[in-house]
Amino acid sequence: MKITFLGTSHGIAEAHAFCSSAVVTVGDKHYVIDAGAPIMTLLQNHGISFWDIQGIFITHSHRDHTLGLVEFTLQVEGFKKQFAGVRIPVYVPDTALYLKIAKFLFNQDEMVNHRLMYRTYEPGVIFDDGTLRITAIVNQHTACSRSFLLEAEGKKVLFTGDLKHDIPDYPAVATEQDLDLIITEGAHTRLNKPEVMEILKSSRTRHMIIQHRYDKYNTDEMVDELRRFVADKMTLTCAHDNDVFYV
Ligand SMILES: [Zn+2]
Ligand SMILES: [Zn+2]
Repeated sequence: MKITFLGTSHGIAEAHAFCSSAVVTVGDKHYVIDAGAPIMTLLQNHGISFWDIQGIFITHSHRDHTLGLVEFTLQVEGFKKQFAGVRIPVYVPDTALYLKIAKFLFNQDEMVNHRLMYRTYEPGVIFDDGTLRITAIVNQHTACSRSFLLEAEGKKVLFTGDLKHDIPDYPAVATEQDLDLIITEGAHTRLNKPEVMEILKSSRTRHMIIQHRYDKYNTDEMVDELRRFVADKMTLTCAHDNDVFYV
């Protein structure tokens, strides 16, 4: 499983970092997790064909996870010849998101759904094409936000998405199962708080990546403190835009 970060930033604009989006690649299939970045261009920068994208999966409707969908939808639905044959399901946790996009782009009360097939999902297994299985886990970041457990090639990756302040909603799967990687957000919680470090250290995985980090709130020094605290349990890496990791 290959994970490419298209954007690792959060809701406040900053230099050299787009908002959250990542691509999971298994073989020649690609799966997009969140779309806060301008994915239309970034996917092409990484040589990813739109025809090979199996799905776009949105953790929650905040703009730093969804704004890239607006341009992507406009282009793919609007340029019929250039995108002929593209068929991508877009999984969102609530209908309000795509109804707003439909209104904004097309002044319609329903989504067009020609090439991008918007659909809502409920907690539980939301996708399984025999290559990748995605399980949506309820968290408390918003009334309708989810973490994702990704399973492929015998590997398991937890993608927390945004969590509630001080992460009381840290997904139980992180402590109950042996995962190969945890991708944690770093914008809503100071990661060097003792109680937070204890929660993160309780994970049964040896590798953790922090993305969606607000580095003025979680400074390098704070992350280093967490890194030292968990050093006997796991490695800790901060992801930046265009970083690629293999699981
Ligand atoms: Zn966010
Ligand atoms: Zn959010």
